[in-house]
Amino acid sequence: MCFLFQGKSPKKKQVKKRKKRTYQRQKQFCKICKKLVSQLPRHLTTHKETDPEMRKLEFLSPKRRTMFLSKIRKEGAYLLNTSSASTDVITSRPSVTKKKEEYEFCPNCKFMYLNLKKHLTRCKGIGSKKTVDMKPGYETDDMILIEEVLNNMKNDHIFELIAKDRLILEYGSRLLAKNRKEKNIFYHVATKMREVGRLVDQLRSQTQGSIKQLEQCLEPASFPKVVQAIKVICGFDPVKNTYEIPSLPTKIGFALKELKRIKNIWSNYSTSKYYTKRIIVTRSTTMRDKLSERTNGTRNVPYLKHPT
Ligand SMILES: [Zn+2]
Ligand SMILES: [Zn+2]
Repeated sequence: MCFLFQGKSPKKKQVKKRKKRTYQRQKQFCKICKKLVSQLPRHLTTHKETDPEMRKLEFLSPKRRTMFLSKIRKEGAYLLNTSSASTDVITSRPSVTKKKEEYEFCPNCKFMYLNLKKHLTRCKGIGSKKTVDMKPGYETDDMILIEEVLNNMKNDHIFELIAKDRLILEYGSRLLAKNRKEKNIFYHVATKMREVGRLVDQLRSQTQGSIKQLEQCLEPASFPKVVQAIKVICGFDPVKNTYEIPSLPTKIGFALKELKRIKNIWSNYSTSKYYTKRIIVTRSTTMRDKLSERTNGTRNVPYLKHPT
């Protein structure tokens, strides 16, 4: 028995030693400080406090972060590759033997490739097409909402409606700020905004254009029309008394509640200025009257430090 264990087992595979893959490790170009750096993601954290675009790095999910870094890397590479001063070229697969002239620019992602035909079959054009088309119409200044939610949204008539409605945009912005660390937050916010957008679209077609904005839907007079529109969107069956999408009416109901709250905050903010101004005026006039009476000696009024 001992003899059997002394030799090597015949089944053990002989592993061939593979040659180590050698490739040229290239540096990346930082578009902010215009320098070549070896670790771009780590380097970008140094710009976190000065550059607002880099500040959002910590809010992104891993998948979004990779996409964002890829976009930044390509933008930096484009700056270096187009400059006539340097002979350096940043590509996906750097080669020692090839020269800069042999590479071609991709029209979508602005990166340089040796085999452009092959690349074009899978290039999606990171953030190139939509940002150019849709930049002007937004009624918000929340950059994360614009770049991560609106620019990735399906470009249809509901999107156009959302982009012009400042109440829906404010709703999206608040949702984003509230649940920033949640998984798939951008998709979640886009879905919520589109649900409300569909309601406004339905109301617009029902009322033949008299309701254009979400703010008009929240008025008490338009309540029966809103209920009717929700029934159409959710596929209400009056015979069976059921909905095709049962969870949607509740979701829209909660969204409308939140939207009404935002509208109230807006109206309170605008009227609060008027009220504080009026209170100051009335207080000062009563104070003045009382003081004048006191100085004239017509009435004995005590001096008030805090007039009520
Ligand atoms: Zn830098
Ligand atoms: Zn491309």
